[in-house]
Formats: sequence, structure tokens, C-alpha cells
Amino acid sequence: MSSTVAFIGLGHMGGPMAANLVKAGHRVLGFDLVPELVATAGAAGVQPAGSAAEAAATADVVITMLPAGRHVLALYREQGLLAAARPGTLFVDCSTIDVADARTAHEAVVAAGHRALDAPVSGGVVGAEAATLTFMAGGGEAEFTAAEPLLHAMGRKAVHCGAAGAGQAAKICNNMILAISMIGVSEAFVLAESLGLDHQALYDVASTASGQCWALTVNCPVPGPVPASPANRDYRPGFAAPLMAKDLGLAANALRAGGVDAPLGLKAAEMYAEFAQGEGAGLDFSAIVRTLRPGGPH
Ligand code: NAD
Repeated sequence: MSSTVAFIGLGHMGGPMAANLVKAGHRVLGFDLVPELVATAGAAGVQPAGSAAEAAATADVVITMLPAGRHVLALYREQGLLAAARPGTLFVDCSTIDVADARTAHEAVVAAGHRALDAPVSGGVVGAEAATLTFMAGGGEAEFTAAEPLLHAMGRKAVHCGAAGAGQAAKICNNMILAISMIGVSEAFVLAESLGLDHQALYDVASTASGQCWALTVNCPVPGPVPASPANRDYRPGFAAPLMAKDLGLAANALRAGGVDAPLGLKAAEMYAEFAQGEGAGLDFSAIVRTLRPGGPH
């Protein structure tokens, strides 16, 4: 069944996601603060709206793909998005935001007489363009079922993770595993270098032994063993280090808020924050390997 969707935030991810909804036959009204992005989305069949509220006024579903929780909450409340929508509108927030902000957003949506789902994604810009994203959703069963046709038009997989905020929780837990494993794999390659062990030899063993993980076999941090990994193209992202730093910052907030003792997660957050502000600013997150070699980055 075709829906009318208001899509707010047409950036790197939102632009191609909105275009995929159009391709699947939905009517999509789009808005972004950057007029050029609205024009680009327009070329893909997204109908330009003059404001987020204007887009939401006639929509069945409002999808947001914004930088952070403060943008989502400001748009929902102070900027009048919830007030502009028809009663019972489904609000699906696909941005990666703080779990606490996601729960606050759910409460605001429900208090305004609407329905809410948090549905952050994994898969990056490539996944957004190819409609192969994975969605991790938090909210009621009925809301998830209602959103599913749209999620499947933009992605390959949608997992209902639990109640409000559970999608964001799954996202930051997954990315904390990824960050720790990438640092672990990188440290092992640096140790191998110091022991005179070949990258390829370590890869051949670890990729089929108990060291096997995505950070090794898909996004291998040294050039050679996995030809498609960013290490083979001077660490052009891929998954950029600042985005990993952002997600680990959210994980660190949640760890502290819950009093959870996770020394490796907190250390990874610290390492990626420093890396993203320095030489990692424009690089894939696997380039952290460069900072681990004796004598510093090279
Ligand atoms: P982006 O900065 O390219 O896009 C965000 C867009 O939101 C911008 O175009 C901005 O102008 C717009 N915006 C901000 N406030 C607005 C408002 N009030 N009204 C309308 N538009 C507004 O970011 P992105 O890379 O598309 O990422 C979006 C979200 O997806 C982030 O939360 C990010 O963490 C998450 N994410 C990104 C990736 C990735 O690889 N880029 C992967 C997974 C998840």
C-alpha cells in the first residue's frame, strides 16, 4: 500500500533513503534546512516542501534523518512538527541519537496524540543508496508492523528490538563491539609487525580461527588481505572515524548513566574521540591502526 511520507533531513543518508521510498511508489514530501539538498531530492522525485511542518501536515508517516537528538527534539517540539501533523501520525526517527533522547522523543510523540518508532540504521551511505540498510527498531509491535513496508523499501532487514529506545540501544551496543574489535584487530597486526609475522599470514590464520570478526574479514585495517577494505584506498571511508566517535560517545553516555563498568568501551570512546579530532577526521575508522604503531601515527 502506498503511503504519504514526510521526509525531514535529506543529507548523506536521508537523500538516498527518500529517493528509494519514491522508487517503491510512495508519495514523499521532503524538507531540509539546506535548499540544495531539497533540490537534489526533487530530481529523484521527492516533492519539495517549504518547511518540515508543511511536509508533515498531510503525511501518514514522518521520517526524520537528522544529526543528533537535540535536532530531533527541537523539531518535534519547539519547531512545531508534532503540532502540525494529523492525529495518529506515525513518527519514525532513523537518526542515531542518545537512548535517553529517543525515549523523551517517544513520550513527546505519544503525548501529542501520535505514534512513535526509533529506527536507526546500519549500512552507511552505500546501504542507503542501494536500499540494503539494516533497521533496528524500538517501539510497539503495531508501530513496527505499520513501518515495515517503508523500512523494507529503504533496507534489506528490519529487526524489532523492543520498546521505546531499544533500536538506539542495539545500534550503540553493536558499534561498541565493532570499535573494540577494530582496535583489537589493529593491535594484533601491529604486534605481528613487531614479531616479523606477515600481515597475510596472520590474516590466513585468524580469519578462519577464533580471531575471526567483521573488523578483520571485511574491513581489514591493513592493506592487502581484503582488497575491498578502506586500507587499500588510503583509508577513504567507509565508515568515517567521526561517525564512530559520535556513536561511541552515545555508548559512553549510556554506560555512565547506567553505572555499567565497561573499561574497553570507555577506552575505545576516548581513543576514537581523539583520533576523530585529529588525523582521523576524514578517514575510515580502521585507520586507527596508524596511531597504534610504535612511535605514533604512520
Ligand atoms: P548529514 O549531516 O549528511 O544529514 C543530516 C541533515 O539534517 C543535514 O542535511 C541537515 O541540514 C539536516 N537538518 C538538520 N536539522 C534540520 C531541521 N531542523 N530540519 C530539516 N533538516 C535538518 O548526516 P547523515 O550522514 O545523513 O546522518 C544522518 C543520521 O544518520 C545521523 O544521526 C548519523 O549518525 C546517522 N548515520 C549515518 C551514517 C553514515 O554513514 N553517514 C550511517 C549510519 C547512521
